Amino acid sequence: MARLILVVLGKQGAGKGTQCKRLAERYSIPHVSTGDMLRAAVKAGTPVGRDVAAVLEAGELVSDDLVNRLVAERFAQPDAAAGALLDGFPRTFAQAAALEAILGADGVKLCVNLEVSVELVTRRLSARRVCVDCGAIYTDTDPEAVSGVCSNCGGQVVQRADDQPGAIRSRLEAYERDTAPLLDFYAERDLLVTVDGSLDPDEVTASILAVIDERLSR
Ligand code: AMP
Repeated sequence: MARLILVVLGKQGAGKGTQCKRLAERYSIPHVSTGDMLRAAVKAGTPVGRDVAAVLEAGELVSDDLVNRLVAERFAQPDAAAGALLDGFPRTFAQAAALEAILGADGVKLCVNLEVSVELVTRRLSARRVCVDCGAIYTDTDPEAVSGVCSNCGGQVVQRADDQPGAIRSRLEAYERDTAPLLDFYAERDLLVTVDGSLDPDEVTASILAVIDERLSR
C-alpha cells in the first residue's frame, strides 16, 4: 500500500490524541504527536526540552523551525516508511508548507477535522488528567485520576500544566489564529473531511474510519 499520511486537525481537547492512537493501530502506522515529542524532550531535560519548557507551560506555540526539524527527523525513521498519523502538526501555514516540502504535494492523503465547540473542549480540557509515563488519558472522576496512579503502567496521573484555565485560553486563541486557517489550506487541495467530534469516542472513530475508507477507495 502507498505511504499513508493522515493529518488530524481540531481544537485542543477535540479528541485528536484518543482518535489518533486508535487510527494508528488500525492502519499500522506510527502516531506522530509533536506535543508528545516536545513533552518527552522537556521531561528528559534535553537542550530542546529546556528551550521549550516555558513556551509549553504557557500554552503558546514553539517555533516553526524547531517542530519542522523534529517532524523531518521523525519521518526519516524506518517505521514512518508506511505512513504516519499526524497529531498536532501542522499547526501553522509555515508548517503545512514544510510538510509539503518534506513529503511532496501528494504526500498527505487526507486531513480529518474533528469539530467541537469551544464550550465542550474547555470542559474536556479542564477535566483531563494524563499519565506522565505512558500518556494514558483520564478524566477527573476516573479512579486513576482520584488515586493518581495509572492503571495501564502504574505511572503518576496528573493535570497537564497547560490544561489550567489561563493556558487553555491561550491555546484555543492560538488555534483560531494560527491553525484554523489550515482548514482552508486542505479544503483547497480537496483533502479535508469534517467529523463531529462531540460524540462518544467510539462513534467518532467509526465516522472517521468510514470517511477514510471511502476517500481512500476513490
Ligand atoms: P498538544 O499536546 O498538541 O496540545 O501540544 C502541546 C504544546 O506543544 C502546544 O501547546 C505547543 O506549545 C507545543 N506544540 C505541539 N505541537 C506544536 C506545533 N506543531 N507547533 C508549535 N508548537 C507545538
